[in-house]
Amino acid sequence: MLNKKVADLLNDQINKELYSAYLYLDMSNYFERRGLNGFANWYMIQAQEERDHAMLFYRYMQNNDCPVTLGAIAKPDKVFKKDMDVLKAGLEHEEYVTASIHTIYDAANKVKDFRTMQFLDWFVKEQGEEETNARDMISKMELFGSDARSLYMLNQELAARVYSTPSLVLD
Ligand code: MG
Repeated sequence: MLNKKVADLLNDQINKELYSAYLYLDMSNYFERRGLNGFANWYMIQAQEERDHAMLFYRYMQNNDCPVTLGAIAKPDKVFKKDMDVLKAGLEHEEYVTASIHTIYDAANKVKDFRTMQFLDWFVKEQGEEETNARDMISKMELFGSDARSLYMLNQELAARVYSTPSLVLD
């Protein structure tokens, strides 16, 4: 059995990842309405990845014979007035998720739960990539977002993103 505190944090993380999926779906929704289908595609794939993350935490708990309790997923409450609001909210959210993963890691470390630490290693790396991606989006938008032609090309670039399953597989 997993330590109670570690188990509770892992259980909460399922909800946080599903909320992330819901938040990114709302961002995709914003860009659909804007007519920027490439941006909408990018955030839709982001949403799919977040659902995968939730399932990895779910599977890890099941594999460790740890009861899962599913809670309500909060409503995405951010109001996006302009494109940059979405991008900045994305980065802010990823920084929050990074801190959350680190909190679980810290709790696992305290009770010498090496298995959970090893499981979380993938997420620690993944969060580094998520934050880099979010910062890149902001940089690109700052450089090209104000010019319609450049925005069109950036939208085309983001339309090319394809979904792939996470490199971490638990069975
Ligand atoms: Mg995630």
